Amino acid sequence: MAKILIVGGGYTGFYTAFKLQKRLRRGEAEVTIVDPLPYMTYHPFLPEVAAGLIEARHVIVPLRRHLKKTHVVQGRVISVNHAKKTATIEPSAGKTYSVKYDHIVIAAGSVSRTFPIPGVAEEAFGMKSIEEALAVRDRIIDNFAKAANLPKGKERDRLLTVTVIGGGFAGIETFAELRSLASAMLSQYPELTIDDTKFHMIEAMSRVMPEVSLRTSHWVLKNLASRGATVHLDTQLTSAKGGKVELSNGISFESDLIVWTAGVMANPVVRDMDLPIDDRGRMQSSTTLQVTRNDGTIVAGAWAAGDNAAVPDLTGGGVGGMCVPNAQHAVRQAKTLAKNLVAVLRGEKPVEYKHKNLGSVAGLGVGYGVFQSGKLAITGFPAWLMHRGYHGLAMPMWERKFRVVGGWIMQFLVGRDTTTLALRETPKSYFRAYASPSAK
Ligand SMILES: Cc1cc2nc3c(=O)[nH]c(=O)nc-3n(C[C@H](O)[C@H](O)[C@H](O)COP(=O)(O)OP(=O)(O)OC[C@H]3O[C@@H](n4cnc5c(N)ncnc54)[C@H](O)[C@@H]3O)c2cc1C
Repeated sequence: MAKILIVGGGYTGFYTAFKLQKRLRRGEAEVTIVDPLPYMTYHPFLPEVAAGLIEARHVIVPLRRHLKKTHVVQGRVISVNHAKKTATIEPSAGKTYSVKYDHIVIAAGSVSRTFPIPGVAEEAFGMKSIEEALAVRDRIIDNFAKAANLPKGKERDRLLTVTVIGGGFAGIETFAELRSLASAMLSQYPELTIDDTKFHMIEAMSRVMPEVSLRTSHWVLKNLASRGATVHLDTQLTSAKGGKVELSNGISFESDLIVWTAGVMANPVVRDMDLPIDDRGRMQSSTTLQVTRNDGTIVAGAWAAGDNAAVPDLTGGGVGGMCVPNAQHAVRQAKTLAKNLVAVLRGEKPVEYKHKNLGSVAGLGVGYGVFQSGKLAITGFPAWLMHRGYHGLAMPMWERKFRVVGGWIMQFLVGRDTTTLALRETPKSYFRAYASPSAK
């Protein structure tokens, strides 16, 4: 029986395993998936989780529940020796060990890309995981509660100032959703007004959201300005030390919530594999999603797709001729990869991956959105409905779709959930406060 090892259980890894389960005949291959997390995360919903519009657990898909014919290992692949077809795994408990495989699928995704700006690593949150989205939600809600107890002044201003760095899709969605949450919460805080809340978006380029037309991006800027949010274009963050935000345009202010969304890079773990990577640290992949050497020959038994792979874009689009790192590609590449892997096992020819971008849709807070496909642009409420419609359906697994859409219906009836569970970070404090000290 062939042994297939999948590194990473995110979009690409999860869908590859899911499709392999369906395609493989009994006894044809044994599939193992390794991920430090027991779930795949539906990233497009992270901004809505941060804004209290979706319950956090609803946007993650438990691997064991949906990959019943796959061996799930909770751990991290730390290196791969493809010459010996061996991968080293660091499990979440127990000793590091090695496994043998016949085929390996590299699907470790991407990580936040930062620059050595003072204070960023210490002060900022990323927006790549469910835990970060939840922490951001708790922070903003908690800060409102704290600020309401304070007189006007420096500390209150700091608590009510939110900064997001990076005006790409994820950044703008996060920024706009947090603005929407803050505006919605004001009705519960008679002590605070909209003018007390400050929202700053920092973008190094002269525009936001490169995925939409310039005209649509101008609509976004106007919309954000009308909602009390400031976008600093052509501006870089120079320091975030101690929460004091300093910008290249000379402006500085204190901010208690700083979110970094200025780009991603391929997961550095791919550098610890004896497989070819390109100058941007991505696994070199072919249009059949097989790892390729510089001369274009295929490395037998090695496959790569998703954010950690440079896959040629046969539609002629993409950046530098390669597919851009997004979920649209990750899901479809995974499906083609599973099909091709089974074909190769059966001695058949793999097919080429080709997908024309369907367009982009973003949610910018309740009632606001943008959609762009070619020259067609839709903005405002209809685009927001399209955002919910598209992502409600794109959420993997019916049980998860029901949870997300069910939550939206509940919210329509009973309102947004603005509670925080920040104290879960120190759950033992309740118990310890009254626990008898241990006998000496
Ligand atoms: C906030 C946000 C919003 C987004 N919105 C959109 C959108 O609206 N539309 C869109 O098309 N795309 C969107 N994206 C991009 C999309 O989420 C990614 O392109 C997609 O997740 C890529 O899938 P992947 O499988 O390559 O990586 P991931 O889904 O990130 O999966 C990688 C997996 O590998 C695991 N892993 C990491 N290291 C190891 C290791 N050493 N060993 C084993 N496993 C490991 C990780 O835990 C993770 O589960 C968004 C991204 C973000 C962050």
